[in-house]
Amino acid sequence: MALTREQIVEKVSSLIGKEHVITNIDALKVNSHDRYRKYETLMGIYKLPLPAAVVKVQSAEQASKVLAFCNENKINCVPRTGGSATEGGLETIVENSIVLDGSEMNKIIKINEQDMLVTAQCGVLLQDLEDQVRKLGLTTGHSPQSKPIAMMGGLVATRSIGQFSTLYGGIEDMLVGIEAVFPNGHIARIKNVPRRACGPDIRHVIMGNEGALCFITEVTVRLFKYTPENHQFRCYRLDSMETGFEILREVMVNGYRPSIARLYDAEDGTQHGFNQFAPDQCVLIFMAEGSKRLAEATALGIDDVMAQYQDVCTTVDSKIIEKWFNNLNWGPEKLEEERRHIAAKHHMGFTTEVSGNWSIIYDIYKNALARIRKDFPHLEDITMLGGHSSHSYLTGTNVYFVYDYYVKACGPEDERMKYHQAIHSLILEETLKAGGSIGHHHGIGKYRTEWIQREHDSAYYIMEGLKKQFDPNGIMNCGTIYPVKNYPV
Ligand SMILES: Cc1cc2nc3c(=O)[nH]c(=O)nc-3n(C[C@H](O)[C@H](O)[C@H](O)COP(=O)(O)OP(=O)(O)OC[C@H]3O[C@@H](n4cnc5c(N)ncnc54)[C@H](O)[C@@H]3O)c2cc1C
Repeated sequence: MALTREQIVEKVSSLIGKEHVITNIDALKVNSHDRYRKYETLMGIYKLPLPAAVVKVQSAEQASKVLAFCNENKINCVPRTGGSATEGGLETIVENSIVLDGSEMNKIIKINEQDMLVTAQCGVLLQDLEDQVRKLGLTTGHSPQSKPIAMMGGLVATRSIGQFSTLYGGIEDMLVGIEAVFPNGHIARIKNVPRRACGPDIRHVIMGNEGALCFITEVTVRLFKYTPENHQFRCYRLDSMETGFEILREVMVNGYRPSIARLYDAEDGTQHGFNQFAPDQCVLIFMAEGSKRLAEATALGIDDVMAQYQDVCTTVDSKIIEKWFNNLNWGPEKLEEERRHIAAKHHMGFTTEVSGNWSIIYDIYKNALARIRKDFPHLEDITMLGGHSSHSYLTGTNVYFVYDYYVKACGPEDERMKYHQAIHSLILEETLKAGGSIGHHHGIGKYRTEWIQREHDSAYYIMEGLKKQFDPNGIMNCGTIYPVKNYPV
C-alpha cells in the first residue's frame, strides 16, 4: 500500500534528520513549479500536486538513502539544484513526490591548477565557482545567462551551454568526471582522465538525464587560462538573416573559433538596443579570446571572412558591443524586475531553442516564424517575435526563438497552454519537419516530451533502454524526457 504523506515525511526525516526536510506550504508550492509556469507562480496559481517534502540532502550518502527509500516505496522523486529550469523539468506531477534538493551541497572540493580541473558539489552556483577560479587567472569557460542562479548539478543534468560556447563548447566538452546516485541507492563515480577508450562514454548517460535517471552529486570540469586583456570584439549590421547564417558558416568551416558568434534578427536585436545603430537590420557579433596571438589570429580571420561580405555588411563600433557584453546575465535583480513587469502588464516573454545543420537552418528560422504568423490564433497579442543564433559548430548552428505577448484571450491559468505551448509547438513541428533537433540546450523537461520519439526515431530504443535499466520502477522525475499519458495539460 502506498505510504501517506505523513509516513513519507517521517521516514525521510528519520533517514537524514528532520532539519533537512522542508514541509512548509509556501516552499512546497514554489517547488512544484519552474519557469514554464512563471505567470501562474506569480499569480499564486498552484494546480499541481504539492510534493510531500523538499529534502535538502547534504551528501551522496544521504541522497543514496533517500533514493533507495523512494525506490522501494515507489515515490516519485524530482531532483533540483538552482531551480532555473525553463521546460517543466521541476514540475511535481505525481501526488506525494519528494523534491530531492542538492542546493546545500555547495562546496568547491578542489581546484587543481596543474591538471586544470575543478571539482564541485552539485549545489555550487556557477557564478561562485567562476569567481573563485578567476582569482587564480582561470575560467571554466561556461557562461550561460543563468550563471548567477544555476548550479553545477542542474547545469550538467540539462546539457547546458554558455555564451562562449563556440570556443569552449557546451557542458559536454567541459565535464571530465562525475558522481551520481541511482534510484537503487548505488553511488557511481566516473574518474577524471583526459580521454579514454574503455567502452562507451558513460558520462553521457548521466549528463542530460534531467533527473529522469539519477541524481548528480559532484562534477569535475576543465579550466582554462583567463585573459580578458586579449578580448577582441567585432560587430556588423546587415539586411538578411540568410546571409548572416552563411557568414557564420564561413567562419566555422575556415576553422576559426571565436568565443562568441551571434546573429540577431531585427526584432530580437531591438530588445538589446541594437536598433539604435541598426534599425530594422540584423546584427552579427563576434568575440575572440584566448592567448594574445590566438585571439589576434581569430579576429584577423574573421576580418578576412567579413571582407568577402563588405558589400552587404557594415562595420559597427565594437565599443557598443562591449557595453552589451557586460550586461548579459540574469541574476536575482533582473528576475525581480521581470516579475514586476509581468504582474503590472500581464505581458511576458519566452524562448524556444532548436538546432539544425547549415543546409536547413535558415529554413527552420523562416518557416517557424511564418507558421506562427499563419497559425497562432492570438497573433494580435504578440508584441515581439524574432530570434538569434548563438552557438555555432562546424556542421550547423542553433536558433533561439524569442517571443513576447500580452495575455488577453484567457486568464493566467490558461496562458501556459494557449500561448506559450501553442507557439512552442509550432516551432518544434517546423524544426522536426526540416530535420533539425527540438532541443538545443534547455532540455526536454515536460513540455517537449510529445516530440521525443520523433526526435530520436529508431534510436529511441536506446533512450527507453536507459530508463528500463536505471529506473525500472519509474520513480525519477515522472513525465520528464519520457512522456506520460495526458501530460502536459
Ligand atoms: C534567465 C535564464 C537564462 C538562462 N540561460 C541559459 C543559457 O544561457 N544556457 C543554458 O543552457 N540554459 C539557460 N537557462 C536554463 C537553465 O538555467 C539551465 O537549464 C540550467 O542548467 C539549470 O540549472 P539549475 O541548477 O537551475 O537546475 P534546476 O532548475 O534545479 O533543474 C533543471 C533540471 O535538471 C534536473 N536536475 C537538477 N539538479 C539535478 C541533479 N543534481 N541531478 C540530476 N538532475 C538534476 C531537474 O530535475 C530539472 O529537470 C536559463 C534559464 C533562465 C531562467
